Amino acid sequence: MSAMQPTEADPAHGLGLRSALNLRHWSVSAKLIALTAPLLLISVVAASWYFPGRQHAQFLDEQVTLTAKMILSQVRAEREYYATKVIPRLTRLNVKSKADTRKRSSASPLPSTVLRDIADMAAHAPSSYPVRLISPWPINKRHAIQDSFQEEGFRSFTPKTDGLFSRQDTVAGVTVMRFLAPDRAVAQSCVDCHNQHPDSPRHNFRLNDIMGAIEVSIPIEAPLQQARRDQWWLLWGGIGVGLLLTGLIAWGTKHTVIKPMRELKDRMQKIAQLRGEVNKTEGIPDYVDTAMAEEVRALWQQFGQMHETIATHQRHRTLELERQAETHRLLSHRLLELQHITQVLQQAVSEEEIYRILSHTLQQALHLRQIFILRLNASEDHLEIVYTSPKRHDLSTESYPVWDAPSRCPVIRSGREYRVQDIHRDLTCPSSLSNEGDGAYWCVPLVIGGRTIGVVHLVSDVKQPWTEESRQWIEALINVAAPMVGHLQHLERARRRALIDELTSTFNRRFLEEVLAKMVLPGERRKNQMLSLLMIDLDHFKLVNDTFGHQVGDIVLKTVATTLHRALKVSDTLARYGGEEFVAVLPQTDTGAALAVAERLRVEVEGLSLRKLAPAAPDHVTISVGVATYPTQAKTVQELIRLADEALYQAKSLGRNRVVGAPPQVSVGAEPGTERDEES
Ligand code: GH3
Ligand code: MG
Ligand code: MG
Repeated sequence: MSAMQPTEADPAHGLGLRSALNLRHWSVSAKLIALTAPLLLISVVAASWYFPGRQHAQFLDEQVTLTAKMILSQVRAEREYYATKVIPRLTRLNVKSKADTRKRSSASPLPSTVLRDIADMAAHAPSSYPVRLISPWPINKRHAIQDSFQEEGFRSFTPKTDGLFSRQDTVAGVTVMRFLAPDRAVAQSCVDCHNQHPDSPRHNFRLNDIMGAIEVSIPIEAPLQQARRDQWWLLWGGIGVGLLLTGLIAWGTKHTVIKPMRELKDRMQKIAQLRGEVNKTEGIPDYVDTAMAEEVRALWQQFGQMHETIATHQRHRTLELERQAETHRLLSHRLLELQHITQVLQQAVSEEEIYRILSHTLQQALHLRQIFILRLNASEDHLEIVYTSPKRHDLSTESYPVWDAPSRCPVIRSGREYRVQDIHRDLTCPSSLSNEGDGAYWCVPLVIGGRTIGVVHLVSDVKQPWTEESRQWIEALINVAAPMVGHLQHLERARRRALIDELTSTFNRRFLEEVLAKMVLPGERRKNQMLSLLMIDLDHFKLVNDTFGHQVGDIVLKTVATTLHRALKVSDTLARYGGEEFVAVLPQTDTGAALAVAERLRVEVEGLSLRKLAPAAPDHVTISVGVATYPTQAKTVQELIRLADEALYQAKSLGRNRVVGAPPQVSVGAEPGTERDEES
């Protein structure tokens, strides 16, 4: 890895340098400085160098010119004074020089050397600056033209103007300002003297004519140096101010723009790193809030709003996802449960077992106060309570309001569920078993092949218990159970068909034997079990057949069977034993009660008016009944039947249309088979 580092670092470094050179990646302050710096520099240089330099030079020029003019006018004045006052006086006094005798005619009696000296003196007197008199004439060699400045100066003079010729020059290594002014004939004495001088180049000089020049040299080295020093100071000062300004720009942009923008960028980067997962919202930090520029603040505020919107959206999304996950979890749980229950239900062998599994599952999931399962009977004219959880023995057939009018139940009628979320608030069903107390109820139809065969009535203690999710699940569960109920009912019907006598619709002998075999239990298990058996035979039925025909006999047989069935309890079993003989099994019935039931049956049959059924029928039929009870009189099925049959035989022999009970069994507790054998 360490070998990798330099190779990785180098391109990055190169990239950094490249991006630093790339204008696009410059910061605001760098761009601002880059934009303003040249202008600033030019301004600084112009302000501190050019303008003050020029001003200084101009000022110096004016000052020096003024000084030169002053000196020149002073010199002129002095010379005029000498020419008009001093020299004429000296002339009048007749002053003569020893050395220089007047060889030549002149206006002045004074020798020319004296005049020149006086002129020099007059020139030098008023100033500390060097003043020179220049003469272009060959006679005055001492003051002859010496350089180009003087030559040019002379050329520039015109007779009319009083021009001042000036130039900056270096004399003996010193910068000086040289001025050249025309020296005019200020007095008649000057004109005369020159005109009369034999060596004079001209003899027609007049007053005011240019006769020579006066040169004044003013050294300007010191003020020039001072000016340069000032310029440098101004330049450095300007650069300093420029740098300060640049620094201020950098500092200002850093706090008003760069820093808040970087902070904003960091926040955005954070969001990007979190792949847009923003939950908590953060405000603008204090250290950037006060300083930032308004536009940046607007950006921050916009970012804040965007952040808030994303966060809110995500919160909702998270909640929604959590809700969905919970729904899916519950759904998959319910699905597994449903699968499991389906398997369990498939193994059920009776309707009751299905109802028990269904109730148990619903109870487990919904904590219900009560579950009722109601089912239409085979002829669909009764709605029976086939299952209650917890058990409700108090609910009898009569107590249920729609027992014998199933169409009053809206669920049976419409095949649609009936849901009450709050018994006190919602519209309740007038046929409901659960309109009292607090809570809610829900009736779900049991539908098989589009036919409603029953209702599952669920009762809850709490209000608003039925959610969409529970609704779906319950319906799914019931929809799974319903076909199984249908299947078992179908099987039961097929089984019953095999066990029912076609003519009388009572059970056949096979079924009777099955029932008796289940009820008459051997040994210890018979303890609390008791039942009575009635052997019923129509009296002189052969005569009915013979008199009215076999068909009428069948009708009579059917009518008697229906009468007997109706007179018996639901828990009793009536079977056709053979021919015109019936057997009724009365569970939990002792001999006394059985004799009473038999008597009731006898009376009922005797009371039948058969003529109503068929005009060619006997007016009345009667029955004879033999009664025996298990286990008090008989210990086995065979013995029970035999005893009842014997009692019937006795009833026949006593004159028919009567009930006879079997004699009480003496040998109680003895083995049945042994007793019967002994008796026989
Ligand atoms: P008793 O009072 O002694 O019982 O006289 P009974 O005539 O009823 O008795 P019996 O055993 O002599 O006659 C029974 C008759 O019942 C014989 C038969 O014709 C008639 N029977 C049996 N099964 C049917 C049936 O399914 N339909 C009709 N119509 N008659 C039947
Ligand atoms: Mg008979
Ligand atoms: Mg008979």
